[in-house]
Amino acid sequence: MRLSYRAEIRPTPRQRQALLQHAGNARWAYNWGLRQHRDAYEQWVELGKPKKWKGWPNAISLHRDLNALKKAASEDGGVPWMYEASKAAPQEALRDLDRAFKNFLAGRARYPRFKSRSRGIGGFRLTGAIKIDHRTIQLPVIGRVPLQPGERGYLPWGKHAQVSVTEQAGRWFVSVVGAEVEDAAPNGKPVVGVDLGVARLATLSDGTVIENPKALQRGQRKIKRFQQEVSRKKKGSANRSKARAKLARAHARVRDVRRDSLHKATTTLAKSHGKVIIEDLRVRNMTRSGASRKRGLNRVILDAAFGEFRRLLEYKGKLYGCEVVAVPPHYTSQRCSVCGHVDAGNRRSQGDFRCISCGHEANADLNAAINILEAASSTDSLNACGEDVRPDQPRLIRQTSLKQEPGTSLRVGSDRGPSSQEAGSVS
Ligand SMILES: [Zn+2]
Repeated sequence: MRLSYRAEIRPTPRQRQALLQHAGNARWAYNWGLRQHRDAYEQWVELGKPKKWKGWPNAISLHRDLNALKKAASEDGGVPWMYEASKAAPQEALRDLDRAFKNFLAGRARYPRFKSRSRGIGGFRLTGAIKIDHRTIQLPVIGRVPLQPGERGYLPWGKHAQVSVTEQAGRWFVSVVGAEVEDAAPNGKPVVGVDLGVARLATLSDGTVIENPKALQRGQRKIKRFQQEVSRKKKGSANRSKARAKLARAHARVRDVRRDSLHKATTTLAKSHGKVIIEDLRVRNMTRSGASRKRGLNRVILDAAFGEFRRLLEYKGKLYGCEVVAVPPHYTSQRCSVCGHVDAGNRRSQGDFRCISCGHEANADLNAAINILEAASSTDSLNACGEDVRPDQPRLIRQTSLKQEPGTSLRVGSDRGPSSQEAGSVS
């Protein structure tokens, strides 16, 4: 397994300009390639979707056509301005497109969408001579870009063959892939069931509670306020676009805080347990509904956080010798963990569980966590393995050595501010 590391950079104004240009070229190439793919796709459908067909464009043929366009003059529909930037950015964008289309055709992903500038600057990948030292990262064409002071020494030093560069609410990040890491041997530590929640990040079957960071709630309140500010400003006004930028920054910060807390929680879990049982959330959404779960946008964000939690836990499990098992969430919130009685009436409120059969009272999340632990010993448990449709997405890591005692409350995520250092499973 390989990990990728992400850190924020601090480009000079001139470098920022170059970064924007590279992102623009990548976006242009992607959209241009997508039009070719779309045309081919329509043709293929018209032909009755033949099994073998030679009409598909691919990254290589598209790159060849793009090179021809670069040689042509602007007035002939050419793109000579692309010569000013690294050729790798559009080339890698075409590779991404190739993969996106393959995933779509295989039924693993939706039809690829055009990348609109209004949905963000996005990013690009570069290949070639990339070098990282204590203070800077050397990028082809763009030059030596300073790292944010707080991020220095975090990225793996030395030469790298590839780097991803992305923009997020006015900030720029680089991510590189580290050396191959071997899966660890089983660590022989205890087994635990984990219930993921809304109010609390996670509740463990041994009674440990992992709280959401305070900064998360604060950030969410800010988002609400900024959203109102945006809607109060006149459409198309400069004030409105200022308010929108503020809102985007608040969103990015909440994302960072959440990610940071997920990293800390999963690292702690994988380091201190030999086996972690979680619910298979792909099934959970259908079984756990109602008043206890928030709806709408919140729900979408939460589901993404739960997915991220599992993904992080699985690759950290490999690093620290911890097995991750996902069980179908059959009545985990309604079943009594003492006598096994299942009844919707057992769950009196969001937080309280009281069995109407044996009278057992407990925190509802703890009761669920114990049920999850017990579900793993039944035969229908399934191994946790999910397919990642976007294997090249940069991810985040933050090593921590948080110690915890069973039954104590553990707050993760610093209130000081989010870290943008990232790593994730790439292979
Ligand atoms: Zn009971």
